[in-house]
Amino acid sequence: MVLRSRERGRVGHRRLLQSERPHPPRVRAFVVFAICIEYLSPMTRAGIVTVAGKPNAGKSTLLNRIVGQKLSIVSPKPQSTRDRIVGIRTDDDVQMILLDTPGLLDPAYPLQRAMRAASLDALSEADVIVYVVDANEHEPPPLERAAGLNEPLKSPVLLALNKIDSVSPGRRIQLSTEFPEARPISALTGDGVDELLARIAQALPESPFLYPADEISTQAVRFFVGELIRETALEQLEDEVPYSIACEVEEFREERSPIYIRAVIYVERESQKRILIGARGERVREIGRASRAKIEELVGSGVYLDLWVKVLTNWRKNADALRRFGYRLPKEHAQ
Ligand code: GDP
Ligand code: MG
Repeated sequence: MVLRSRERGRVGHRRLLQSERPHPPRVRAFVVFAICIEYLSPMTRAGIVTVAGKPNAGKSTLLNRIVGQKLSIVSPKPQSTRDRIVGIRTDDDVQMILLDTPGLLDPAYPLQRAMRAASLDALSEADVIVYVVDANEHEPPPLERAAGLNEPLKSPVLLALNKIDSVSPGRRIQLSTEFPEARPISALTGDGVDELLARIAQALPESPFLYPADEISTQAVRFFVGELIRETALEQLEDEVPYSIACEVEEFREERSPIYIRAVIYVERESQKRILIGARGERVREIGRASRAKIEELVGSGVYLDLWVKVLTNWRKNADALRRFGYRLPKEHAQ
């Protein structure tokens, strides 16, 4: 991991410079003291944990449960996680930096290519990969095959058989003989998640913590506000429109009470805009009302949400628009 090796590099460099001249006694005592602290303090583990798996397997639900807060958008509609989300969980001596991955699917247009590229990046950066499989799926393929990779993955892969709450006792027994190494879990109820966390912790490298212990994410609150609005719109709309929705938070004024947020839901066509607004603006009002309740829970105070709907024609096929909404494009699209 880049962060860790840079950290070590810096320490090494400084010691080399200091060793060129003799230390005064006070400095020597301090160096001995610092080294003692380093060796006597309890060992910590830290690293990147990538949650991978097919769309709808329950990756986002698991991430939210692990982090203990709703960070990643959860929806029964596949493809609702578009970019990777970083959550952080810190226990006494373990820190997990969690990456959620968009579905590993066959890319057909630039947005899907960006999603797949983000997933593959997250796999290659991982210290540990948690492969989430729906326990109802028969004969799940190995992760490499599911992800269409030609080479084996370098990081250890832990198999988590999710939705165990929804399978029969007979199937549970069958799974335990078929996949003795796998962890049966329910991301929904929390069953088996502590055991999975213990396994992840064992597999992480020894390392100092990489983020402050009280941080739960590196993403800005306004990013999550946008995601909550998008999630609410997904919940309230029929099949075709949801994938054409992007949300941008244009203004976020924390100094005001209630907090003032102006956000825009972008769609690809006028017809979709009409659906989103609804008769006499009822639908967008309802999306705004439900989103506001979620945002208030996230930020812990009152919110005034000024919500707009605009058309950005065919934005999903447009590299500039994708970048604007924060999607990372695969290399062939980067200029
Ligand atoms: P992702 O596409 O892999 O991120 O999947 P999501 O986390 O968005 O979940 C997809 C659907 O499966 C949602 O309707 C979840 O509520 C549901 N789900 C996730 N985990 C469980 C579980 O442990 N048990 C059951 N019964 N449903 C689950
Ligand atoms: Mg998801």
